[in-house]
Amino acid sequence: MRRMRNAGIALSMAAALTLAACSAGEPGDDGGETPAGTAEATSGGGGSGGEGVTIGIKFDQPGLGLQEGSEYTGFDVDVAKYVAGKLGYTEDQIQFEESVSSQRETLLENGSVDMIFATYSITDARKERVAFAGPYFVAGQDLLVAADNSEITGPDTLDGKVLCSVEGSTSAERIRDEHSEGVELYPAQTYSECVELLSAGTIDAVTTDDVILAGYAAQSEYEGQFKVVGNPFSEENYGVGLPKDNDICEDVNAAITEMIDDGTWEKLIAKNVGEAFTPNADLNPPKPQPCA
Ligand code: GLU
Repeated sequence: MRRMRNAGIALSMAAALTLAACSAGEPGDDGGETPAGTAEATSGGGGSGGEGVTIGIKFDQPGLGLQEGSEYTGFDVDVAKYVAGKLGYTEDQIQFEESVSSQRETLLENGSVDMIFATYSITDARKERVAFAGPYFVAGQDLLVAADNSEITGPDTLDGKVLCSVEGSTSAERIRDEHSEGVELYPAQTYSECVELLSAGTIDAVTTDDVILAGYAAQSEYEGQFKVVGNPFSEENYGVGLPKDNDICEDVNAAITEMIDDGTWEKLIAKNVGEAFTPNADLNPPKPQPCA
């Protein structure tokens, strides 16, 4: 996409070189490497130029967005690949960038990324700065505690407890706004940081979306250590973050609808989170909302 050309400052040197190498081998204006008949769908969004697309994901959330060496796995990653494919991009035209919760709006505003698939809840406050396609998944805020913790059973049982969540997330904001009395909130940059603190016994609970917490609890390195309380207290509609001024929202929604209708959504859930987590069947799969 065109925006990627301005993203140099936000890219590491290595990433920039990789991009340069990719671009060098690509065909010109005919968009020769894009799948036939799909490039048009971007309607000026950039896919047909063969430049590639920069997608923001989480790097540390197992089952959702995880970086292991040069490999990226998880439901968000697979949804991103599916949608990008429908927009006319091949997999090797996708450049993944880490988008921690507090940076997501900024990364879209300054053009460092073209789209974000990063457990990114659609909210009115965020819509002031960015646009959303979707939702493509609905989660709920919950609590991760030590497996033998019987005291913490929901948001009303947190008096005197130390909680970790991530700056810039709806999870931290909800604790501050609605459950702050008697709760000490430790703000981290990533959820994996919170989970390490929980493992060390430094904090009492981690709070964020149930599907994220379930991914950590299922990791072999933490086997038997944690449990997700299982008493969700919000509805988190995961959207595809887009720059406010974009012309691809409708196409992204069409791709999400197709992904749900053709059975891919179900398969990707089973593949990535199926063993650790069962999505709320009343809310999933969701129907994308009209683009504003
Ligand atoms: N879905 C919530 C949010 O977008 C929490 C998860 C996250 O921080 O990515 O803020």
